[in-house]
Amino acid sequence: MADQLVFEGICPICGAGRRFEARSRDFRNHLKCSGCRSIPRERALFAVVEMYYPDWQTLTIHESSPAMRGASERFRSQAANYVATQYDPTLAPGVFDKAREFRNENLEHQTFQPESFDLVITQDVFEHVFRPDLAIAEIARTLRPGGAHICTVPLTRRDEPSRRRASLVDDEVIHHLDPQYHGNPISKDGSLVTVDWGFDILEYFARHSGLATSMVLIDDIERGIRARYNEVLICRKSLPAALL
Ligand SMILES: [Zn+2]
Repeated sequence: MADQLVFEGICPICGAGRRFEARSRDFRNHLKCSGCRSIPRERALFAVVEMYYPDWQTLTIHESSPAMRGASERFRSQAANYVATQYDPTLAPGVFDKAREFRNENLEHQTFQPESFDLVITQDVFEHVFRPDLAIAEIARTLRPGGAHICTVPLTRRDEPSRRRASLVDDEVIHHLDPQYHGNPISKDGSLVTVDWGFDILEYFARHSGLATSMVLIDDIERGIRARYNEVLICRKSLPAALL
């Protein structure tokens, strides 16, 4: 039987896409919505945001390294307050680009005030960060109580311990394994993979941030949500006890 590569359904992000089509069985990066061209992990992340924060349009959202489509585009156009950041170490931190589309922020050392955001979104960012301990701690610092970091990361190691592929020592990249790169919309060189993550990322995030971490896996082809490594992590900042 030929592999099925086209599915009917309704895209949770754009609502207009009624068909999901892939070129191969590698759905993760290729099962595209006919409407917004989103891919499964973007639809999974958006579905989780809608499930946990159905009022997201009223919230203040920081997204690091957004995609130019899909969930990022909906957050950008419809959230009450949305700031997108990219990191260029040659530019001053905290400054916007000329088009005011991106604020320059190093996820590991952010210039945002504490408790600035209801939601922080990262989509396939944490496998490229050299100091994920600092990045998750900074995300926790900038979240408001009751807010959450919602993210996708390819958890390729599954039950095996996460392992480091590359680290940065005195501004020099040290490779512990063969270098691997993922596509990067703002760099033709792609992004170096620094960590192969497994499910122990939940414990790692909790340890370095104090956030309450959990993982959601949706498999629902009618919303085009089906792929390998399609888990969504949700890391919540507790409300003060008096408000519970
Ligand atoms: Zn769509």
